[in-house]
Amino acid sequence: CGIIGIVSSKPVTDRLVDGLRRMEYRGYDSAGVCTIHDGELVRRRAQGKLNNLVEELAGNPAPGAIGIAHTRWATHGAPTTNNAHPHATDHVALVHNGIIENFKTLRDELLNSGRKLESETDSEVVAHLISQQVENGASPQDAVKTVLPRLRGAFALAITFRQHPDMLIGARLGSPLVVGYGEGETYLGSDALALAPLTQQIAYLEEGDWVVITKDDAAIFDAENQPVIREITTSGASA
Ligand code: GLU
Repeated sequence: CGIIGIVSSKPVTDRLVDGLRRMEYRGYDSAGVCTIHDGELVRRRAQGKLNNLVEELAGNPAPGAIGIAHTRWATHGAPTTNNAHPHATDHVALVHNGIIENFKTLRDELLNSGRKLESETDSEVVAHLISQQVENGASPQDAVKTVLPRLRGAFALAITFRQHPDMLIGARLGSPLVVGYGEGETYLGSDALALAPLTQQIAYLEEGDWVVITKDDAAIFDAENQPVIREITTSGASA
């Protein structure tokens, strides 16, 4: 239900959790975060209140200067830790807001090709489809370009790639996603409010847009994969 992502050179986990807290008002049933540290995806999830995730992180920290986080409002699959986002493979971790309407077809295709899925969610199939591309040698950009046109329904996505600890990819169709511009940091968020303590400089992605963010830059593409400029506005959201 809420997404936040940060690419930085400073620790991100506490700030990811702060961002989730600012989206609590939307309602949620579980929460999770995934960072990249020492070349590994570090994923922590918890059913229930955000404080359960905070407790989990106290026992099992998730260090790192890049990460994504999510509060989930379950649509497909019970509100359990196992169904909580981020969903991950060995290569990719992903958070999703919305509903992938054709997930059954995609899921059957993945199962038939011998992949093991861990959750009952519609979201996990997207992580596997992108991972499949990466495992076959595609760049993160090409993997996303190939998979997005296959998705029906509504989504905002934030995706990390284990072998690319300097970038995140975001995408939106039918669910909002914004890019936030900081000092040597760049952000993704469901809304400007979630990013308000981090930056007021916000670009609203348009329908079908996807974006590659690094700590110094955001490259935005439209649904036809053409580079586009989306105006950066100063948000009135207060920190
Ligand atoms: N459909 C996804 C799920 O059930 C995402 C729900 C959401 O937007 O939080 O896991």
